Amino acid sequence: MAHIAEIIAVGTELLLGNIANTNAQELSQALSSLGINVYWHTVVGDNAGRLREAVERARNRADIIITTGGLGPTYDDLTKQTICRAFGRELVLHPDIVARIRARYERNLHSPMPENNVRQAELPVDCIIFDNPVGTAPGCAFEENGVHVLMLPGPPFEMRTMLERWAIPYLRRLSEAVIVSRDIMTFGMGESQIEALLRDKMERMTNPTLATYAKPSEVRLRATAKAASAEAAEAMLSPVVSDVTALLGDIVYGVDVRGLEYVCVSGLRERGLTLATAESCTGGRLAARLTAIPGVSAVYRGGVVSYWTQIKADVLGVPADTLDAYGAVSEPTARAMAECVCRVTGAPVGVSVTGVAGPDRDERGVDVGIVYIGLATPDGTFCRALDLGNRRRDILQNLAGNHAFDLLRRWLSGLPLEL
Ligand code: ATP
Ligand code: MG
Repeated sequence: MAHIAEIIAVGTELLLGNIANTNAQELSQALSSLGINVYWHTVVGDNAGRLREAVERARNRADIIITTGGLGPTYDDLTKQTICRAFGRELVLHPDIVARIRARYERNLHSPMPENNVRQAELPVDCIIFDNPVGTAPGCAFEENGVHVLMLPGPPFEMRTMLERWAIPYLRRLSEAVIVSRDIMTFGMGESQIEALLRDKMERMTNPTLATYAKPSEVRLRATAKAASAEAAEAMLSPVVSDVTALLGDIVYGVDVRGLEYVCVSGLRERGLTLATAESCTGGRLAARLTAIPGVSAVYRGGVVSYWTQIKADVLGVPADTLDAYGAVSEPTARAMAECVCRVTGAPVGVSVTGVAGPDRDERGVDVGIVYIGLATPDGTFCRALDLGNRRRDILQNLAGNHAFDLLRRWLSGLPLEL
């Protein structure tokens, strides 16, 4: 039988927006990789009545309930008490746990343990105790009429440690399936266009499933399979990946890769080439994305952020004639920037970006969204001219950056350079 889980995060701070519910995110990730469906995330404040309501609702629609938070020693920590009341279980004091908490308290805080903390050593009768090696409050799990209840502490590090040591092994025994996903990364086609191509296929599929996730400037397709083992799930996924790749063609730039720049770096490495960048409207984003990749110094020499026209001329050496005749945002300037940065750095491959990121037109009246990408290579110099439209400045900058990496990865893999 497939399990259905609900995560209940307890804490008024979460409702006030003081902290984000990262525990639920981590728990959800762990549960889906165990093949357990998470159907609900609930957040409730430190309030016994509303927590009780949330628990009653959860036990009627899920067979795994995981709570985080409210296991502490203070009056507002009421998770155990409330859950025990809901499930009709007594709380039992464990003297050995009191002794452990007392020792930990005295060792770490050099003061006697306040009597409040004794409450943390009270646990539901007949439960499995989740020892807490990095904090004081233990967690626990019990089963009542087919519903499994797991209680974990709120502090994220304690939650994570207990999840890995106790909750995952507990849940693994309950579930017989694993979920494996493959991310098919695309650039160059909008989400609705991709969906139109794949809609029939996506609707027919139940296991594996296929879904699209759009970022502002690229679309990720996620194929997900559920099976008895990871190997079986992977075997179900490979035909989906090949099918989708065949259907979408060269807009697919990789599977399970993190971004276009990663593909570029591996391509450069394979071909034994080095790269330099000359950026205007992207203000160093290409350089930042490249240098975020460990080991990139093997292929990336460096870059120039030539924001002023004068810097394009003085630092890069773009001919004044070109700048005068065509302007800073033009195809000849983009080509010259790419070629010049090769000369300045000695790299055989240079990428440049020049464009208008807005919100206003440039001084020559070039519209927002007009962007030229230059690519200088041993095969010659190329340019991609784009009208990306009037979008938010940071979105335009990211999109222009993706186009620059896309042009480069296409050249590196011998694909047609135009989209
Ligand atoms: P303590 O013994 O520290 O009181 P607790 O189990 O009672 O632990 P809470 O009091 O609910 O847990 O939360 C302690 C802290 O843990 C919060 O102040 C917050 O920083 C963090 N925390 C709680 N819940 C979450 C959550 N769902 N996601 C991320 N952080 C959380
Ligand atoms: Mg607390």
